[in-house]
Amino acid sequence: MADGWRRYLAQQAELGGAEVILGARSEPSPAPAARDQPHEEATGEPKWTKGAPPMPGPGIAVLSPAPVLLGNDLGALETLDAIAERIRTTYCCELCPHRTNAVPGEGHPNARMVLIGEGPGATEDTTGRPFVGQAGQLLDTILEAIEVPRTSVYITNIVKCRPPQNRKPLPDEIAACIPYLHRQLDLIAPKVILAMGGTAGEAMLGVRKSLGELRGKVHTYNGIPLIVTYHPAALLRNPNWKKPTWDDVRIARQLLDR
Ligand code: URA
Repeated sequence: MADGWRRYLAQQAELGGAEVILGARSEPSPAPAARDQPHEEATGEPKWTKGAPPMPGPGIAVLSPAPVLLGNDLGALETLDAIAERIRTTYCCELCPHRTNAVPGEGHPNARMVLIGEGPGATEDTTGRPFVGQAGQLLDTILEAIEVPRTSVYITNIVKCRPPQNRKPLPDEIAACIPYLHRQLDLIAPKVILAMGGTAGEAMLGVRKSLGELRGKVHTYNGIPLIVTYHPAALLRNPNWKKPTWDDVRIARQLLDR
């Protein structure tokens, strides 16, 4: 577990916020009075629900463009593996020739939650897998905290090849690559989508808005609730964004149970 996030969750637990057990206690403690009992024990509710924010109101509603409008034949690809194969074996923009590996995405083919980042970083480019570097470790911790196994979700990115020096993907690169994501979402048909970072939020909703404007609303993509939050890499740079992220992911988590 990334140390910063572990420390943050521990602090939240002390404050009665994100109460997450971060490892076995070394000694059994005496039975607490009912009001002091851990949240789960006292209420039967999972720990992440304690202090979870109320469901926000609606945001932007978008429909995915049909493949025919985008002028591609991706609608003919019937499985995630077929899409991944296409991504790995073709070039769609200037990023592709410079990749070590394309990173199509990975996870459960019938995932109820899809998480979308910006684009692969160095470790992802080397391994061909999404979110396996430092930001990925933090993402694993976040998923653990909301009791969603990584193996149950699908994780992917707006662009499938690493932008040089991890710069933001350019509008043309996004436009060339995003049809793969639309087709992936079409096949997975998740219950909730979590867009991580401004690039993912803007690309999914087709708008130019700040992350602050996109957070705190339940947008929809083809009728599927879509929550926008900070990118895990941003949390590594600015720990002040952990609290709002913790709220956002718990909104996404509540939508899974609806
Ligand atoms: N950042 C992203 O946006 N995606 C990854 O896969 C890794 C880091």
